[in-house]
Amino acid sequence: MSVGTEPRGEVRFSENVAALQPSVTMVVSTRVRQLIAEGKDVLDLCVGEPDFPTPAFIGEAGIEAIRSGKTRYTPAAGIPELRAAIARDLERIAATPRRFDPHGVVVTSGGKQALFNAVFSLFGPGDEVIVPVPYWTTYPEQVELARARPVFARGDAARSYKVTPRNLDPIATDATKGLILNSPSNPSGAVYTLDELRALAEWATERDVWIISDEIYRKICFAAHVAPSVLDLPEEITQRVVLVDGASKAFAMTGWRIGFSYSSKALADKFAAVQSQTTSNASSPSQYAALAAFQGGDHAVAEVERMRQIFQKRRDLLAGLFAEKLPGVRYVHPDGAFYFWFSIDRFARAGEDSSAFCERILDEQGVGLVPGSAFGQDDFVRMSFAYTEDTLRAAVDRLSRAL
Ligand code: PLP
Repeated sequence: MSVGTEPRGEVRFSENVAALQPSVTMVVSTRVRQLIAEGKDVLDLCVGEPDFPTPAFIGEAGIEAIRSGKTRYTPAAGIPELRAAIARDLERIAATPRRFDPHGVVVTSGGKQALFNAVFSLFGPGDEVIVPVPYWTTYPEQVELARARPVFARGDAARSYKVTPRNLDPIATDATKGLILNSPSNPSGAVYTLDELRALAEWATERDVWIISDEIYRKICFAAHVAPSVLDLPEEITQRVVLVDGASKAFAMTGWRIGFSYSSKALADKFAAVQSQTTSNASSPSQYAALAAFQGGDHAVAEVERMRQIFQKRRDLLAGLFAEKLPGVRYVHPDGAFYFWFSIDRFARAGEDSSAFCERILDEQGVGLVPGSAFGQDDFVRMSFAYTEDTLRAAVDRLSRAL
């Protein structure tokens, strides 16, 4: 058999990946981009990344790293300067003064890898991991990659689908080992208050359940400048917590692939070991670029704030447009991130699920949205507002024609 020839008969993949699906959000956005490349008039509102270029001083630091030959392997957990800069940045934004140990930081190839390191290290066959709905599409897939079982928790619509212990009690069992939180949320934009996080951390501590807290949108928050973090809670209730964050969203660095986790040193060492046997270190020039971002001081803070304000303005614009042009369409008012999560019940035809609805809206109105099925809620869709105000206005106009 020559290279590239399809093997005869069906390929039977291992149980590790038997149920694995490609990331739906990427599949949809690939289709939308294809239509645009064919010259179709399509407004692509699928994408989950800031539409801003990476701030110039960060890019320059990456270029300088390449020029000066910082292009070799680094320690698996990242260059010590970056781990220290991240720890200091966590101290800077903490709600109350506390110390963050650089040895608890593991620099990863994107937040996604930090999440994978944690899920794969903490959960395995027989374990159940609670995932609140709507969830970021990757959580259940990674839990299944670890051969554990995702168990879905449902919060009330009136609370923007945020979960409370009352929603977790009925689904918790002796096998429950983890809870994956995401605040601000992709796709809903909901932000947990510190009291809400406290209640969940107390619940988890009582049951020895791990919390993996994905706070990658933490710096894109509209109620406060920085969303509350589980690590703002007292240490007695955060001993079984892994924080996942990164440079992708806050610094408009999605393609540089820099994320990190923060945890106890013992966990961090295990995450670094997983990484050392899979991908090794995150790209070294990217680490130097992220170093400029995380230790960038006032300059970096100002850049993040500039982008945060633009997102907030767009959020307000969209809320106004929904009230004016899409009356009666239910949505979660986003307090963070850059997504509008809205119900299709006023649009959908009988029997139409979120995928069929998205296909129709793409074909008929030229608007690319991500179906809610990707996030575990089939009667909703996600619209990103990482786009210009003109694009958002045009998209709502087109949607209003479909009402
Ligand atoms: N967590 C959430 C909630 C996300 O939306 C994303 C990216 O879309 C990530 C993690 C992963 O980020 P990264 O691109 O740094 O891997």
